[in-house]
Amino acid sequence: MKQKLIVGNWKMNGSLATNQALVQGVLAGLPGLNVHAAICAPAAYFASLQILLQGQTGLVCGAQDVSMHETGAYTGEISASMLLEFGVRYVIVGHSERRLYHGELDAQVAIKAQRALSAGITPIVCVGETLAERQAGCTEEVVKRQLAAVIHTNGHCISEIVVAYEPVWAIGTGLTATPEQAQQVHHVLRQQLKAASPRADRIALLYGGSMNAVNALDLLRQPDIDGGLIGGAALKVPDFLAIMATASQCAIA
Ligand code: PEP
Repeated sequence: MKQKLIVGNWKMNGSLATNQALVQGVLAGLPGLNVHAAICAPAAYFASLQILLQGQTGLVCGAQDVSMHETGAYTGEISASMLLEFGVRYVIVGHSERRLYHGELDAQVAIKAQRALSAGITPIVCVGETLAERQAGCTEEVVKRQLAAVIHTNGHCISEIVVAYEPVWAIGTGLTATPEQAQQVHHVLRQQLKAASPRADRIALLYGGSMNAVNALDLLRQPDIDGGLIGGAALKVPDFLAIMATASQCAIA
C-alpha cells in the first residue's frame, strides 16, 4: 500500500510562539513514521515556517489559498510564484469556507489549481456537498461537477493534483462521514479521474471532515482513501501525531 498523505489545515489559527511549539512537537514525533505530511498555514507565517522546516522532507509547508492571477493590481492576494519563494509545496484550493464566505466558484477554483500547477505547487482541490445536498441525494452530482471544472481546465496535468473530499456538514462539526460513505464518494471521484487520465492511480484522494485520532483508522484503511485533510486535530501535537501514526500503520499494512 502506498504512503499516505496527511495535511493539516491550520485555518486562521496560530501565533509565532504556538506555531514553533507545534512544528517542533510534530517534527519530534516524525522519525520512524512512514507518512508524508504537510501543514497549510496562514501566509503571514511562511517565512518563519521556512526556517523551522528547513531540510525536512517528511513535513512540508502548504498554503490555504492562492490568487487566480499571476501578478498585478489585486490587493490582498498572493500569487503562486510568491508561495513558491517561501518553499510552499501544496496549496488548498476551493475549501468550502472559501466557497461559502468568499463566493468562490468552480471555474475560479479550477484556475487557482492551474496557477499552482504552473508554479510547480501541488493544488489540493477540495470538493464536497452540503447537508442539504446530501439529503436531497445530490452528493455525487455536486462533487463530480466541482471536480469536472478542475479536470476541464487542467486536463493535461490532472495527475499532478491532490483531491480532498470534504463533506461540508462534517467540517469542524464533530460529525464524520462513515468510512463507507467516504469510500463511496472517493470511488466515484477515482472513476472520474481515471476517465480523465491514464495516470489517475497516482492521484492522492484525501478525506477531510472531523478526522481525529479515534476515527482515522477506519477511514484511512478504505481502499480509495489515500490520506486526510485535518483541521482541528492538526492544532494539537498528540492528535496530529496520532493520525500520522495511524496513516503510517495503514501504509505498512
Ligand atoms: C478542514 O477544515 O479542512 C477540516 C477538515 O476541518 P476539521 O478537521 O476541523 O473538520
